[in-house]
Amino acid sequence: MSTLVVVGAQWGDEGKGKVTDVLAAQAQVVARFAGGNNAGHTLVVEGKKIVTHLVPSGCTYPGTACVLGAGMVIDPEVFQDEVATLRKQGLLPGDELRVSLDAHVIFPFHRELDGVREDAQAASGKAIGTTRRGIGPAYEAKAARRGIKIRDLFEPEALRERLVRAASVLDPEFARLGSEVRVQIEANLEAAKAWAQWLRPMVCDAGEVIAEALQRKERVLFEGAQGAMLDLDHGTYPYVTSSPTTAGGVCTGLGVGPTVIDEVWGITKAYTTRVGAGPFPTKLDGDAAHRLREAGGEYGATTGRPRDVGWLDLPALRYAARLNGMTGLCVTKLDVLAMLPEVQICRRYRDGVKPGVDRLEAAVPELERLEGWGDASWAAGLSEIRRLEDLPAPVRAYLDLVAEAVEVPIALVSLGPDRDQTIVLRAPF
Ligand code: GDP
Repeated sequence: MSTLVVVGAQWGDEGKGKVTDVLAAQAQVVARFAGGNNAGHTLVVEGKKIVTHLVPSGCTYPGTACVLGAGMVIDPEVFQDEVATLRKQGLLPGDELRVSLDAHVIFPFHRELDGVREDAQAASGKAIGTTRRGIGPAYEAKAARRGIKIRDLFEPEALRERLVRAASVLDPEFARLGSEVRVQIEANLEAAKAWAQWLRPMVCDAGEVIAEALQRKERVLFEGAQGAMLDLDHGTYPYVTSSPTTAGGVCTGLGVGPTVIDEVWGITKAYTTRVGAGPFPTKLDGDAAHRLREAGGEYGATTGRPRDVGWLDLPALRYAARLNGMTGLCVTKLDVLAMLPEVQICRRYRDGVKPGVDRLEAAVPELERLEGWGDASWAAGLSEIRRLEDLPAPVRAYLDLVAEAVEVPIALVSLGPDRDQTIVLRAPF
């Protein structure tokens, strides 16, 4: 076995950064297939916090190739800053970074359009809750076949034409929304020259990089962004992200065939969180929400926005398992759940409401209170445990319940933010 896909199984922020970082220790290539800098991973290595937005989580291992796929949208300014910060921390010492020539570029006007639109939507009470980073407008341009790819940065004449085309569509929209912003063709051409020079050593055909690695019998970890319920096709549309977040996206986003995928592990928190608008059946309010949010530090890594929080939603997780063809489940933040005075779980929704068939807005959870939680005698020491059999009985019962309901075996358990606060139950490769 030489490839593993790691994806979020909820609404993002499941702890993919930490889990991917742990698993990347055994990989020679870590490749990201979709999304942009709307994602934010937090890695803790020897107590040091490392935040990444675009760079794959393999960046903590010198020599591990970090591939950014064609399915991604890349803001070169953000990318440059992120790489500079990581290099200051002693990471990415060599030629680890590889960027697909077919990835799309986020220009400053995409960011500006995102903000202007979100303000206009907010004024009418209909904000989607985007991160205002230009991700949506860049994907929209891609689908409309007027996007600008990394490869265009190397061809100034072609780029000028693409920018003129962008201006012809976006300038009237800026004007209509009452904004003075316009697509600055010369300034963008100038900026693109510098980006191209910086990117030149990294650009590649990402699919070829992966195919060659597999030929050399290297191990490849495919890393997703956000979570299954935010998938553009299968999530809680329109409150979703602008790209695929499920395992199928690996193939389209990196240029590899489905037959190269050996394993798919989905990551779920021991509870649920969500940022932005849209349905969230098991959402908590009031004191209970406050307690869980504070215990878990549930504020966005990219935006600092407080996340909505709630109990683990097994129907949604089961749906995510099917969407991804999941072969293993990674459960994170059990230590956070243990800090709460009581724990509940949702096994089903009332009236047979079913994700994928019914709108999740209609889902009313049937909640069940679980025995044995809220016990300070074991809660505080949970992060120190390193063997499944040493976990307190309620925690083991919880993992069994989840695996049985979702029909996917538990592959990894995370008991704290640090790398070593992890129990790996199955070989990832
Ligand atoms: P990602 O985008 O899926 O990587 O998720 P985020 O980075 O936004 O959120 C995960 C946060 O939880 C990070 O701050 C991690 O350091 C932290 N984290 C991950 N796993 C655990 C865990 O098992 N316990 C605790 N307490 N924190 C964790």
